[in-house]
Amino acid sequence: MQLLDGKLVSEKLKNDIALEAAEFTKQSGRQPHLVAILVGNDGASETYVASKMKNCEKVGFKSSLVRYDTSISEAELLQKIDELNKDEGVDGFIVQLPLPKHINAEKVTEAIDHRKDVDGFHPINLGRMQRNLPCFIPATPYGILLMLQEYGIDTTGKYCVVVGRSNIVGSPMSILMARNNNPGNCTVTIVHSKTPDITEYTKKADILIAAIGKADFVTADMVKDGAIVIDVGINRVESSETKSGFKLKGDVKFDEVAPKASFITPVPGGVGLMTIVSLLKNTLSAAKKEIY
Ligand code: NDP
Repeated sequence: MQLLDGKLVSEKLKNDIALEAAEFTKQSGRQPHLVAILVGNDGASETYVASKMKNCEKVGFKSSLVRYDTSISEAELLQKIDELNKDEGVDGFIVQLPLPKHINAEKVTEAIDHRKDVDGFHPINLGRMQRNLPCFIPATPYGILLMLQEYGIDTTGKYCVVVGRSNIVGSPMSILMARNNNPGNCTVTIVHSKTPDITEYTKKADILIAAIGKADFVTADMVKDGAIVIDVGINRVESSETKSGFKLKGDVKFDEVAPKASFITPVPGGVGLMTIVSLLKNTLSAAKKEIY
């Protein structure tokens, strides 16, 4: 079994991004600029946004955080998005999800100019991704592709099963793995909560991608010998072993699945770190106008 080490790969890729960012800043006289909008103070969202901002600084980007109380109206948020769309000093921006219930997340996603949509959630980017055209690819699936690429894993002809069909992970991941590219070129099955017997599919998978949000969901009996296992899940579970009283666990029961796998991502230290790298890559591409 070999660990797909998100720390190692993300550090290497961030070094490359930092060099490119320095070159961009030298040529253009300004840094690539990412703005994050955070509504409310959900603990996990706070952590993710803080990490995104910190990583921007590490690679020489400018980052700005726009915070709103949960009482902000949908109209006010849309007004801010319009302002950022028009601001030439902003290369890309993200609206951290989830949003409060009174705000329509679809409406917000579609209001973002697709040329600044570095999260890759806008329907134009998703449609272009499906057609294999230049676009911003959603950060988590993009990070998984980069990880497979860095380890030189040839996915062509493999059977890939994606567990979970969310708009931000499972669904785009399944599209990417089926595209006519490497990584990709897989025969793909996507399973979800309404699939009667998930194990029937997962135990045949050469590549198993778990994006469910349930700690230790994937057990050894669900996994084929020699499978490549990608664990997207980030689940906070109570623990007496840590000071904070909780620890992070993936969707895969690592201890029993790892011995059967040929490659596996740990949690933490796997996909999560790659997600941030992808966001940085998308922001740099936006600044350099490489895509649009
Ligand atoms: P969602 O809750 O949006 O989607 C979960 C998916 O899993 C749904 O499609 C759901 O099916 C499916 N599912 C839930 N329960 C079961 C079950 N018992 N059997 C089969 N399928 C099931 O989650 P996300 O996609 O946003 O996130 C998934 C996980 O990944 C979470 O732990 C999240 O924290 C983590 N995550 C990690 C990131 C990273 O950077 N590493 C980034 C984003 C997310 P249905 O559609 O039928 O409800």
